[in-house]
Amino acid sequence: MTDCLFCKIVAKEIPAEVVLETDRALAFRDINPQAPTHVLVIPKEHHADAAALAAADDGLADDVLKAAHAVAVQDGVAGTGYRVVFNTGPGAGQTVFHVHAHVLGGRDLTWPPG
Ligand code: 5GP
Repeated sequence: MTDCLFCKIVAKEIPAEVVLETDRALAFRDINPQAPTHVLVIPKEHHADAAALAAADDGLADDVLKAAHAVAVQDGVAGTGYRVVFNTGPGAGQTVFHVHAHVLGGRDLTWPPG
């Protein structure tokens, strides 16, 4: 998609600190980290939000979730606990409309989130 920030990261038109890449998913560090581990995991294919990802074909959501867990293992936070968050819609704080899982860890995470 031409005007999508994260599509531009997939296309390497905008730099990002990539930590994991598979055939269909890309994981890179958030530019404004909210925890020691704060990685965004996206499908390379453009889908606007988690609802669109859930409706996508042949296991794409599964690939993104597996990549999110792999990032947590790779960053050493899988054992202590980590959070996977899809802000979905403006009311939930979504600001970039290319679906992304936030993988957060490396500090105590409170509940409920703000
Ligand atoms: P949202 O608010 O949509 O759930 O999350 C968007 C996330 O993208 C935010 O945490 C924000 O810091 C991150 N972000 C925005 N622009 C960029 C960018 O150009 N590069 C990277 N790596 N992260 C970005």
